[in-house]
Amino acid sequence: MQADLYDLTREQLRLLFARWGFAPVHAARLWNGLYLGLAESFAPELLPELPEKVRAHLASAARLGVLPVARATDSTDGFTRKYLLRLDDSRHLETVLMRYHGRVTACLSTQVGCAMGCGFCATGQMGFVRQLTPGEIVAQAVHIARALRLAAPCLVSGHPVADPPGRAAAPGKARLRNVVLMGMGEPLHNYEAVMHAVDILRDPAGLALGAERITLSTVGVVPGILRLAHERRPVHLAVSLHAATQAERAALVPVAKKWPLDELMAACRSYSEQTGRRVFYEWTLIAGTNDSPEHARAVGRLLRGLPAQVNLIPLNPTNGFAGGPSGQDAARRFQHILANEFSLPSTIRQRRGIDIAAGCGQLATG
Ligand code: SF4
Repeated sequence: MQADLYDLTREQLRLLFARWGFAPVHAARLWNGLYLGLAESFAPELLPELPEKVRAHLASAARLGVLPVARATDSTDGFTRKYLLRLDDSRHLETVLMRYHGRVTACLSTQVGCAMGCGFCATGQMGFVRQLTPGEIVAQAVHIARALRLAAPCLVSGHPVADPPGRAAAPGKARLRNVVLMGMGEPLHNYEAVMHAVDILRDPAGLALGAERITLSTVGVVPGILRLAHERRPVHLAVSLHAATQAERAALVPVAKKWPLDELMAACRSYSEQTGRRVFYEWTLIAGTNDSPEHARAVGRLLRGLPAQVNLIPLNPTNGFAGGPSGQDAARRFQHILANEFSLPSTIRQRRGIDIAAGCGQLATG
């Protein structure tokens, strides 16, 4: 099996070249070509500094796991683009590019499908298919970086994908700066591959995504949270909470039966103590289920004293779940209670990409 170069850290690439008998300078040039030049192949015009004998060896002994685009869809407001990318085994994943005023964020998948089975999530509804490799996670980020570099036009607005509608285009200037591991899959259920990919994404001589720029979201895999803390991994942690009592949470997220709420909160407390970081708590607002003032007070009491921020996310529709999103009034009332009664900061997530099923919990492939 040929090595996927996106699977390798810079040091691993150097060691591979040493094993092949090539000088470190060639490994460095290839690395630059892959992550600064964003080369899509070993073609001489994309990697002009590599000698022919190195290129020929690469062609026979390695591969570049570029993920071909099976489909790209833009939301009608032009802020969100969803890519359906094809994997080597003909399976697919979805990756989302989200534009906000002044920044661009890539939402990457970490698995095909998901084993966690959250009923309101389209990925959970499709079940678990397989883990992604580090290279398949890195390749998504490189794909987005390339789209920004090329200033590919939005299919709806005609503006480069990096520029929010109404802003002047800046061809070639945009850079990928923010990544959220919140696409298909539970990142902590694919811990080794995800952390290896994070190491590659963070390399200052490559995509150079800073520690403040990568956020990992988990539904509550307690051993993974404890390991993240113990290893002091340089990522922000977001925990999908959705309910503030064990019974209500277990009804929404099956994983709560394995790792109950008290264990989850103990792990989050330990994470904050060990890393000095606050935790983002995600709360999908489902009308009539978890959006009442009593629910807001329950989460306020649960998080009291913890370094925390709550992200309120009105439910995004999926075919397999009957519930609906809370209205704006309920979301604002919830936020008001958190702020005024508990001094707990929160945001209400902007609803983006819902019309192309690119919102939170909507990603799925057949
Ligand atoms: S919400 Fe996250 S953890 Fe739950 S099923 Fe969906 S992808 Fe998996």
